[in-house]
Amino acid sequence: MDDLRSVLTRLEVKCAALGHFNVADLTVLKAVVAAAAEIEVPVMVGASEGERNFFGTSQLAALVKSFREASVVPIFLNADHTHSLTKAVEAAKAGFDAVVIDFSSLPFEENVSQTKKTVEAIKAINPTILAEGEIGDIGTGSEIHETARSEFSNLTTPEEAKQFVQSTGVDILAPAVGNMHGMLTSMVQGTAKKHLNIERIAQIKQATGVFHTLHGGSGTGDEDFRKAIAAGINIVHINTELRVAWRRSLEDSLAKAPIEVVPYKLLPFVVDSVKQVVSSRLRLFTTPPAKGQI
Ligand SMILES: [Zn+2]
Repeated sequence: MDDLRSVLTRLEVKCAALGHFNVADLTVLKAVVAAAAEIEVPVMVGASEGERNFFGTSQLAALVKSFREASVVPIFLNADHTHSLTKAVEAAKAGFDAVVIDFSSLPFEENVSQTKKTVEAIKAINPTILAEGEIGDIGTGSEIHETARSEFSNLTTPEEAKQFVQSTGVDILAPAVGNMHGMLTSMVQGTAKKHLNIERIAQIKQATGVFHTLHGGSGTGDEDFRKAIAAGINIVHINTELRVAWRRSLEDSLAKAPIEVVPYKLLPFVVDSVKQVVSSRLRLFTTPPAKGQI
């Protein structure tokens, strides 16, 4: 079986994780699909509400379905950060494999009740769809930030995670474990890295027993990724790193050919540059750590 649940279980046994990459256009989608095919590992395509608004929710689902039919590796589609029941239902009806239900900005009790209601609604449309819930603050915006916010030190606790999972019925949990959306300028330059609380990941995993997603993976060091996956992370989200590669390569491509106006001559360079980022992350997420590294 190649459904999302069984692929996540299969990867977990191997101490590997599923790479999740956000797309806002066909250029980035082609890069993600090509990287997964080259390395021969499953992949998850993600789109936030903003990305879905730009792409078209059903149009993206149709394109991914078409790529999937021609693919030798499983390709899944996730409705990233969905802030309303209506948008979650829309994605479920369009055929998405998973929905990130994000009411994390609400007080805990309200987050629980809204998430539970949305889980029930999307599972009524597709019983095999996986529902992800989010607690804690990992910021918003997969963009470049000038400074870090101090509240990222508020990590999810194993107790609240357990209560949240049991009360909502989510299949996947997105905890706050030192991760944050976006990258600092210093991270883009490569002079700083994000640091994850590996012990906390292991404690939350132990308390809940569900799949875990690491959001805001861009700018995290390779060792932290390996340890986080070994501690229980099943899905890793990468967005900002792709956006940085997309912009840089687009600027380069345009600068190198100032009078070129043919998209299919300018954009392959962008596809290739983004593909390199996706490939290196997919390799890392699916290569089990050597003994002694965990
Ligand atoms: Zn996220």
